[in-house]
Amino acid sequence: MEGPFDFTLTGVLTSVANPLRDAGVGILTVSTYDTDYVMVKQENIPKAVAALEASGHSVRWVGSSFRMSVNDLQVLAERFRTAVEAAGTTIHVPLPRILIQRVPGVSVYDPDSNEITYPSWEETPVTGKAGQERAAFQTGEAITGQQFFAGQFRYFFVHELSHWLQMQLPARRELKKVQDKYSLEAQANRVAVAFLASLPEERGFMERTVARFERLLAAKEKPLPEGESGRRYFNELYGKLGAEYPYFQYQMVLDAWRSPARADWSKALEDLRDAPVQ
Ligand SMILES: [Zn+2]
Repeated sequence: MEGPFDFTLTGVLTSVANPLRDAGVGILTVSTYDTDYVMVKQENIPKAVAALEASGHSVRWVGSSFRMSVNDLQVLAERFRTAVEAAGTTIHVPLPRILIQRVPGVSVYDPDSNEITYPSWEETPVTGKAGQERAAFQTGEAITGQQFFAGQFRYFFVHELSHWLQMQLPARRELKKVQDKYSLEAQANRVAVAFLASLPEERGFMERTVARFERLLAAKEKPLPEGESGRRYFNELYGKLGAEYPYFQYQMVLDAWRSPARADWSKALEDLRDAPVQ
């Protein structure tokens, strides 16, 4: 709680504790001379934020400032292009421009502007940050929401580079018109996994990322109705999947990782070239 408060003002603490109690969020409080600290479990952060905002409090994130390193992303992009060319694929379009800004918790490649928009932690809304805290908790590692965010979007940056690569292929120029989004996304993940898994210096990162996605999937409710095909469900509801969208992305990453050819970069590029995508 942002103080200092007059320490006779016990009502301030009550105004925070009550909505949390009503929302079923357990708390631990520590009172100091200047202010009170109210602690909640990491997994309960989304519930706590929602309850506090609904009762008129404003919630903001404090703590270490965090800048995504654009340089790291540019280096990854250069290495990606070099690896594609080394495997004999001609590149027609320059590497995408990288924009770091608020997008609703996702990264996006836009083939029209040839830009990858990458989410910035600072500009992510409080509810989005709360969701990342919960996901961080679900990984079972002692990591913060910021750390989870940084790792997952570093992977998805390579995923977006794979969409950029898809656009290079003559038959796929018009990515937006592709009907079978499932295949498009699965291919992007296949290429991203193969790229990272084939680089010795990225293997550790990829292993960590897969382990996190695996535990998140285990913690999430499966959106797919029993007996339903993932491809059909995904394609039918594409654009309306909302919170279910990451489930499919994580599952595709796992599928690519579990394939015996996961680190076979030339095979992944070959599949990308040859697989029919309508
Ligand atoms: Zn994608």
